[in-house]
Amino acid sequence: MFYIVGTPIGNLKDLTVRAIEVLKKVDLIACEDTRHTKILLDHYSIKTPTTSFFQHNRFMKADYIVGLLKQGRDVALVSDAGTPGILDPGYNLINLAIQNNLEMTFLPGATAFVNALVLSGRPAHEFYFGGFLANRSQARKNQLERLKKLGCTLVFYESCHRILSSLEDIKAVFGDKEVVFARELTKKFEEVFRGTAEEAIIRLSGNRPRGEFVVII
Ligand code: SAM
Repeated sequence: MFYIVGTPIGNLKDLTVRAIEVLKKVDLIACEDTRHTKILLDHYSIKTPTTSFFQHNRFMKADYIVGLLKQGRDVALVSDAGTPGILDPGYNLINLAIQNNLEMTFLPGATAFVNALVLSGRPAHEFYFGGFLANRSQARKNQLERLKKLGCTLVFYESCHRILSSLEDIKAVFGDKEVVFARELTKKFEEVFRGTAEEAIIRLSGNRPRGEFVVII
């Protein structure tokens, strides 16, 4: 069986009982960064062997893991944080497993944009999840102009390095519309800020922004 296992996005206690059972019993755990996942596994005294499956070895490693599954081994896939396949290389392995008609199941865990969307209080019956915004400012503004036409809640992931420049572009495109940013979700310094992009910029200016962000417009 191929188990896709959702893991915490910060708070180690957000691992389900079923996930612990499965991670203990599988033959191998494929993780983005074995050192990172070791922190979670040690916390729950899980001794299962791990192997790295990340951006740069994903094709070769996906073949290897699918080979093991075909031999009848049980393998679990986890991300550094949250749900495998949501903005991480898990997608490639899941796809290859489907092409090979392998039996698989998904154990739900945390996903950063779901926490942020719920805490934002914005309408969630219709929303657009855009992953990471474009890198360059002009491309980002063009992307935002295009998405503005959708007329629904927009959700993006953002890093602490780019959050201020992205908020500047959101301000340029959306003016005074309400923006929510959620950072460090489930962690000690969790913060959910609601206001205009201008107010969000003021909130984050002064000190260098820290942490991982989800931005909602
Ligand atoms: N697989 C993950 C998920 O299920 O949400 C997403 C992985 S993506 C490579 C990493 C991005 O997710 C971060 O840059 C940040 O935007 C968002 N993220 C992850 N953990 C977060 C947290 N605790 N608080 C806020 N955003 C988070």
